[in-house]
Amino acid sequence: MKAICGESSPGQATIAPVADCLFCKIVAGDIPAERVAESDTTIAFRDINPQAPTHVLVIPKDHHPDLAALASSDAGLLAEVALQAHRVAQAEGLGDGGYRVVFNTGPEAGQTVFHVHAHVLGGRRMAWPPG
Ligand code: AMP
Ligand code: ZN
Repeated sequence: MKAICGESSPGQATIAPVADCLFCKIVAGDIPAERVAESDTTIAFRDINPQAPTHVLVIPKDHHPDLAALASSDAGLLAEVALQAHRVAQAEGLGDGGYRVVFNTGPEAGQTVFHVHAHVLGGRRMAWPPG
């Protein structure tokens, strides 16, 4: 995979992609995904195994393993991911009824892909507590 570390043009990640990271490959376009939104620093695409009528993942283009790593190293990028999650929810028509944003963080929480991602879920009534 081509290293793009240091690339400064819009739409490009600034941290080198991590080999064998599924979501870095989606950012690079090496694995297809149904993209619904993109900003300079993030992309949003539909989850391949949706758990609700709307299930979109918002990820930073830069590789950070999980929420803890992103929050401690780039709070501005975390804010952009959150804003994009809200924009996606609005674009999906979830603005009135509401939606859920989930960051599974660590194996105990069910995280399976270690490139931080926000799940944006909506279109049905959500249960609480989550399973
Ligand atoms: P998590 O379990 O919180 O790490 O979430 C990872 C999510 O990535 C799961 O909901 C998967 O269904 C989703 N996923 C895995 N592979 C793909 C893919 N190629 N395209 C879209 N979503 C994917
Ligand atoms: Zn990655």
